[in-house]
Amino acid sequence: MNEGIHAEGTASEPQDRVTELIEQQTAISEVLRAIASSPHDMQPIFDAILDSATRLCRADMGSLRLFEESGLRLVAVRGDPFVVSQTRSSFPVLDKESFLGRLATSRSPTHIPDLTALEGDHRDDLWVTAAKARYRTALFLPLLKDNEIVGVISIGRKQVQPFTDKQISLFRDFAAQATIALEITRRERQYREALMALAHANRVATMGQLTASIAHEIKQPITAARTYAAAALRFLDKSPPDVAEVREALTCIVNETARTRDVVDRIGSLIKKAPPRKEVVDLNAAILEVTALTRSEAVKTGVTVDTQLAGELTRIQCDRVQLQQVMLNLIVNAIQSMSGVEDGNRELQISTLVEAEGVCVAVRDTGHGLRPENLPRLFEPFYTTKPDGMGMGLSIGRSIIEAHGGRLWATGCEPRGALFQFTIPAD
Ligand code: ADP
Repeated sequence: MNEGIHAEGTASEPQDRVTELIEQQTAISEVLRAIASSPHDMQPIFDAILDSATRLCRADMGSLRLFEESGLRLVAVRGDPFVVSQTRSSFPVLDKESFLGRLATSRSPTHIPDLTALEGDHRDDLWVTAAKARYRTALFLPLLKDNEIVGVISIGRKQVQPFTDKQISLFRDFAAQATIALEITRRERQYREALMALAHANRVATMGQLTASIAHEIKQPITAARTYAAAALRFLDKSPPDVAEVREALTCIVNETARTRDVVDRIGSLIKKAPPRKEVVDLNAAILEVTALTRSEAVKTGVTVDTQLAGELTRIQCDRVQLQQVMLNLIVNAIQSMSGVEDGNRELQISTLVEAEGVCVAVRDTGHGLRPENLPRLFEPFYTTKPDGMGMGLSIGRSIIEAHGGRLWATGCEPRGALFQFTIPAD
């Protein structure tokens, strides 16, 4: 008999452990899945962490707060609708000196089997709200990263039903893994956001360098439209008015104003700060738009532009604006490198080529070229040889192309000039 009980005990213990491990694994998998499927928004990740934590510990409510300068900011809350709405509206940020703040600074889990048994000085407003919603048992767990408190998860039950040591330990392990995942994701996203902000600043700065040329580009059709309008007036003054000529002049005005609108639209889409998005892009058309924007700058510098675009390009998915930014930087660099060359032709060659894995874009110039010893440094951030250069264009360009799974590299040309090429893989 005794043997039987003993045998049953040992058989179910490993079984329980396996069940626990599976539950814990599932909980962390849910968080990782949320991370993978939400590239821009952290909210689904916060929700997944809290959902997994409450499910794992069979809790009725839960909240997740992150430690910030201003205090403990609520990022997710679950449970009784009254508590959820009250917590959201009345306690979006809790003071570090609040009850929860003080619990978090203890750095270890705090288990309160019966909230109503708490002594007076612990009873703050949040406690009153929880008590009103009849929460009785609570567990608070500070989230630590390198011994720094990054947040706190609290879970609760409506009955006095203490969490078992096993549940606390499961919760602790899960929270430790979730914190690592959360912190890596936060860092990675902060880095990406900083890179995007920098890329935007670089786009605006590059467009700034083109201001005079673009102003000229816009002025031209406006001047033409004015001339056609004056002609139309003259044709109207004729006796009888020459309606056919007036119609022709008006058609020309419509075309010229459309040209101005196109230039302004292109500038707008490049300067706008929009979140990155992948879509099927007609690469040739995107390149032609950038060459149109830089046309006046090329003319001003005495550069002839030759485009050789492949007839039918492989279908690629990319962020159109980011790709145009890479082209813009390469073209502006090429024009600038040729502006200092006195003898010989100033030629800019832009080509697209279909390759086995995708598309290759090449920008070649006949400028002062690249010194072999400088090649490894070209793509380093802040590397510049220009008095007013930022040295960010090529570094940002490479990050953009690599984020699209491609490669960007440079080669010196004979007898002079530089060749920049990048690839974008097909879908
Ligand atoms: P910036 O243009 O602000 O200097 P970039 O990152 O775009 O920043 O370029 C870094 C450096 O690479 C330039 O300062 C220049 O020395 C070199 N470079 C870039 N493009 C060319 C080119 N087409 N020909 C020669 N040198 C180039």
